[in-house]
Amino acid sequence: MNNTPSVTVIGLGPMGQAMAGAFLDRGYDVTVWNRTPSRADALVERGAVRAPDVAQAVAANELVILSLTDYDAMYATLAPAEQVLSGRTLVNLSSDTPEKARAAALWARERGAVQLTGGVTVPPYEIGTPDSATFYSGPREVFELHRNALEVITGRTDYRGEDPGLAALMYQIGMVMFWTAMAGYWQAIALAEANGMSAADIVQHAVETAGSLPGFFSFYADRIEAGQHSGDVDRLAMGMASVEHVLHTNTDAGVDVTLPAAVAAVFRKGMDAGHAADSTSTLIRLLQTPVAAAR
Ligand code: NDP
Repeated sequence: MNNTPSVTVIGLGPMGQAMAGAFLDRGYDVTVWNRTPSRADALVERGAVRAPDVAQAVAANELVILSLTDYDAMYATLAPAEQVLSGRTLVNLSSDTPEKARAAALWARERGAVQLTGGVTVPPYEIGTPDSATFYSGPREVFELHRNALEVITGRTDYRGEDPGLAALMYQIGMVMFWTAMAGYWQAIALAEANGMSAADIVQHAVETAGSLPGFFSFYADRIEAGQHSGDVDRLAMGMASVEHVLHTNTDAGVDVTLPAAVAAVFRKGMDAGHAADSTSTLIRLLQTPVAAAR
């Protein structure tokens, strides 16, 4: 009897390749499939089995890891394999919205499969390392059953609950911060370059500025939990003036001001609602009332 653990990995972008490689490193029998077959070449050289089609990839193992661009790619990929989904655990590590994750979990259940939703928080080069982490949600017993395999992908797993949307939600909570911060960094470099400086000239300042944020996160989280939004530490009127300085500095430099203008608009909303003397954290409540739905 073969006791070697086995897994199928479908989707071999940078993430899926790293995941399949991590399983190979840990001695798993790994079956792979990718729409563009050549992306499997290096893994096959290392011992992975290239399934001739997606149905045979799914049929090969009970545990199927999906690492695709989004959930639409999952439906497109699994359409020819619908007949063999029954009895499979689909660990969907493709990112998308919580609603899409919930709909896909239902879709899988209707075909006799179970979905575990995952949200991987690290880039490809950290896959398989002990400190890397992934959010999971879905049936707890299925998560526990496959925990050892999931800890091959990232050393830490953070199970958030039965709702298949929760892991996707946690992922998106991280991503709204990540992309907004990265867009801020691109803006900072555009501003620096417009003033004759380079990315290298400001990187130390950028790192130190980003490094100051965790202290603010903890400080405000405690106050928000306590319902404390008074302007004893920071006043929205001060914040409004500051973000307008940012906006005008960017305008004067002739760079695109879409991002600083959007930040100023958020602060303006708080000012218009009469919160000039309150903390900038009052903006949270105002952000819960959308002005216009964005698509
Ligand atoms: P990519 O988008 O580079 O690749 C994903 C895979 O999806 C490819 O194998 C691609 O196939 C496949 N694919 C896309 N559309 C279709 C389709 N319509 N039909 C069949 N296959 C399709 O993603 P990554 O590998 O970078 O990431 C995978 C997931 O992980 C994404 O959801 C991403 O958001 C998330 N993630 C990525 C991180 C990163 O740093 N890269 C970090 C954390 C999460 P083909 O090769 O044929 O194009």
